[in-house]
Amino acid sequence: MKRPNLDSVTTINADGSHHILHPADVKGRFTLARRLVAGLMIGIYCAMPWIPVNGAPAVFFDVEMRRFHVFGLTMVAQDMWVLFFAISGLGFLLFVITAVLGRIWCGWACPYTVFLDHIFRRIERWIDGDATARRQLANAPTGWVKIIKRVSKHGLYILCSALIAHVFLSYFISIPRLYEFMRQGPLEHATSFAVVLSLTGALYFCFAHFREQFCILMCPYGRLQSALTDDDTMIIGYDEKRGEPRGKATDPTAGACIDCKRCVTVCPTGIDIRNGLQMECIGCAACIDACDDIMLKLKRPTGLVRYDSSRGLAGQTRRILRPRLLAYGLLGLLGLTALGFTAFSRAKPMNADVTRMRGPSFYLDPTVVRNHFQLRLFNKRNQAMAFSVALENPPPGFVLTGAGENLHLNALQELARPLVVIVPNSAYTGSRTLTLKIHSEPGDSTVRHEVEFLGPNPHLFRQP
Ligand code: SF4
Ligand code: SF4
Repeated sequence: MKRPNLDSVTTINADGSHHILHPADVKGRFTLARRLVAGLMIGIYCAMPWIPVNGAPAVFFDVEMRRFHVFGLTMVAQDMWVLFFAISGLGFLLFVITAVLGRIWCGWACPYTVFLDHIFRRIERWIDGDATARRQLANAPTGWVKIIKRVSKHGLYILCSALIAHVFLSYFISIPRLYEFMRQGPLEHATSFAVVLSLTGALYFCFAHFREQFCILMCPYGRLQSALTDDDTMIIGYDEKRGEPRGKATDPTAGACIDCKRCVTVCPTGIDIRNGLQMECIGCAACIDACDDIMLKLKRPTGLVRYDSSRGLAGQTRRILRPRLLAYGLLGLLGLTALGFTAFSRAKPMNADVTRMRGPSFYLDPTVVRNHFQLRLFNKRNQAMAFSVALENPPPGFVLTGAGENLHLNALQELARPLVVIVPNSAYTGSRTLTLKIHSEPGDSTVRHEVEFLGPNPHLFRQP
């Protein structure tokens, strides 16, 4: 086994080539909990395109129609500015989580780790056996057994990569359309086929060959860690005070660590956690389970390797509230509040805009003063809806024409309709603000728009 040290990356050989790791299997409470979380995450990923909310999949980025459905909330391309609040709010929330819990995201919830650890590595264990068997197979000369195992394993890798890629595509074209595309064949839908093919290839390359190198060399979030964490952040660390000096279990002068290297052999990034916190650590907690298992066998207290802060591992008290936490929290809260507010205001079943028509700002007829407006209405629901447009508390003589009591719009239909407001010359007393009320049924939602009714100076106008 290659000995990890702090001067080089274990998974990269001196000549720059990839040193393939064969992490040992591990059992324990964190491994089990991670497996359950991963099952849940994979379940959610696969289920989202199937669960209908308000007539559309729960999460559906309908690129063809340029509409985005997120848990019943439909946004059009013009609403994309909301993304700014979503990304900044969730980004700062992730900063808070990182400042408190370190790389909890990487080890427990990152899709890359979830797929790699809980699908691809499991396939490998199932076909090639445990770490020792895998190492022996890798070093064995090519023979029928090796060929059959390699073909089966990589065949399953490609199949899983293709499945993940197809589910991913269904977030953009919906499940029924994906099925239709598959039935019609690749040449009918060359672009979608190319996307799925490239994604399958990229996933297969990453999960079958590149593996932990992605986290170590490419992930930008991993590189940010050291800037986001401090001595009070929860990390996975080794209790040096209790563990050192390392020695045999029978040695009364030795610390708790018996130098069995079990924590090193299970590590998917090939580091030795006893060397301190390292950038390669993805927080998978495998070393905690491995060491706890050894401690239990030796009838010693567990937790030699554990979740704790650097301060806690040094025997000091961990501070929870720190300036950076307040700063990240405040910024995150700001973004999420703005997101919540905008999402709430956008949750209405319609988008309605009223603008003044191009041309003169008013028309003076022999008997009436006229203003022309343009109504743009978008039914955001996946069902037909009826809309009514009216003047709210109209002043005496003001009448709205051009919009009926009942405008019928099909699911996700958009409509532009002229609105004309008139007032008899005898009732006209000058420019004023009017309120247009647009009501939808079903949904019982109302949108109000204020418009300026313009006209001539009433004093000059009235002169004979
Ligand atoms: S050091 Fe421990 S927590 Fe970090 S990657 Fe290795 S096994 Fe996982
Ligand atoms: S598993 Fe525990 S006892 Fe064994 S080397 Fe690692 S820290 Fe020491």
